[in-house]
Amino acid sequence: MIVGNGRVITNDPSNPFLETGAILVRGKVIEEVRELAALRAAYPHEPFHDVAGRVVMPGLINAHTHAYSHYARGMGVTGPTRDFVEILENLWWRLDRMLTLEDVELNTTTTFVESIRNGVTTIFDHHSSPGAVEGSLFTQAEAARRLGIRASLCYETSDRDGAEVFGQAVAENVAFMRASNTGEQDLVRGLFGVHASFTMSQPSLEACVAAAEGLRGGFHVHTAEGPGDEPDAVEKYGQRILARFHDLGMLGPESIAVHCVHADDDELDRLVATGTPMVHNPHSNMGNAVGGAPVVEALGKGVRVGLGTDAYTADMFASASVAKILASHRLGDPTVGFGEAMTLLFGNNPAIAAAHFARPVGVLAPGAYADLITLDYDPITPLHAGSYAGHILFGMSGRMVNDTMVDGRWVMRDRVIQTLDEAQVNARSCAAAPRIWARM
Ligand SMILES: [Zn+2]
Repeated sequence: MIVGNGRVITNDPSNPFLETGAILVRGKVIEEVRELAALRAAYPHEPFHDVAGRVVMPGLINAHTHAYSHYARGMGVTGPTRDFVEILENLWWRLDRMLTLEDVELNTTTTFVESIRNGVTTIFDHHSSPGAVEGSLFTQAEAARRLGIRASLCYETSDRDGAEVFGQAVAENVAFMRASNTGEQDLVRGLFGVHASFTMSQPSLEACVAAAEGLRGGFHVHTAEGPGDEPDAVEKYGQRILARFHDLGMLGPESIAVHCVHADDDELDRLVATGTPMVHNPHSNMGNAVGGAPVVEALGKGVRVGLGTDAYTADMFASASVAKILASHRLGDPTVGFGEAMTLLFGNNPAIAAAHFARPVGVLAPGAYADLITLDYDPITPLHAGSYAGHILFGMSGRMVNDTMVDGRWVMRDRVIQTLDEAQVNARSCAAAPRIWARM
C-alpha cells in the first residue's frame, strides 16, 4: 500500500521532510519514503491511500503511563491528598486495590483507545491491581492485541500489600516476560515492574533481581519522584536510590528510571554509565507538586531522557509542549527547553523503544515498522524541515489525529476505531466506574 499526498515529517535525518510525500508499506514494514509522484510511478499497481493533504508523521511513543488509573477521571477523593505520599495512599492505592480483571481489561482498552486517538502507537504501561494480580498483564496484552497497539507492559511490584501479593506480582512479571519477550511476536513486550525504592525492602528488591535473572528485558521503576524517596533510601540503606539500584544490577539500556526528579549528579552519571533511560513526565511532576526533573542537566551529561505522560494526558504533543515550558520555568531561562523537548519526543523515545522492539518505531524510514499517523493540520505559517519542530510543539495536538496505523494496519480511520466498538467499551466503563467511586 502507498500512503501519501500530504506533507511528510519523517524524523529520519537523511530525509526529514517531503512537501508532497508518500510511504510504501508492505506488510508490517515501511519499504520506501519518497515524493508521491515518483513513488506512484515506481509502483503503478500498488493500492493507494490518499491522505488528502493531511500531515503524515511517525506514530508517537508514550514512554510511561498507567492504564489502571482511568476510572479516576471525574471521581471524588475522600482522604486528604496534601502531598505525594497522601496522593498515593488516599487515591491510587485505594483505587487499584478494588480493580478486578474485568476492570483491568476495560481500563486498558479505554486508555489504549484514547492513545490511538491521540496518535500514540507505542505505549509503556506500568500496571497495578493488587486484588487481581494473576493474569493481569496477560489481560492487558489481550486488550492491546485486539485493539492493535504496540505495548510494553509490567506489573508494579511493591511491599505495600504484604508478602502474598508481592509474590504474585513477581510471578506475574516473570510469567509475562517469559511469554512475551520472544522473537515470535513483536507487538507486546514485558518488563519487570517495580513501584519505587521507598516501597521495596532490600530482600524484596533482591528477590526481584533474582527472579528476573536470565530473562530478556529490564526493570521499569519510579525513581526519586516525591521528595521523600531519596531520604528514605539514604536512611534505610545508606545510599541514594540509583546507587542502590545500580549495586543490585537493576540498571541498563532495557530498564527505565521514571521521573528522577530528585536525582543528583552522581545518580545521573550512573544512568549514563549504564545506558539507562530516564523518562520525564512534566504534567505529572507539576500536578503532584513534586518538583521539576533535571532534564536539561541530564541531557547535558548524556542521559537518554525520554517522555511519558504518567496518565495525566494521552496527548504526547501536549506532553512535549509542557516539557519545553517546564524546562524554561524551572531554570528561569526561556532559551532552554525547545530543542530538548524535541529530543525527548523524537530522538530518545524512539531510541528507548529500540531496546524493546525488533525494528525501529517513531521514524518513517525503510525497514521501520509501519506505525504512522495523519493529522488534520493546515499550517498558518510555512511548514518545512526547518520549522516543523515549532509546529509540533505549538501548533499540533493529539485531537488533530485523523488516522492511526500500527504494524501496517489501520487501527483508526477518519477518527473511527477500526478494531472494536468504542462506544460499547466506553458505555461498559461508565457502567463499571461508579462501583469503584462509591467505595472511595
Ligand atoms: Zn508513574
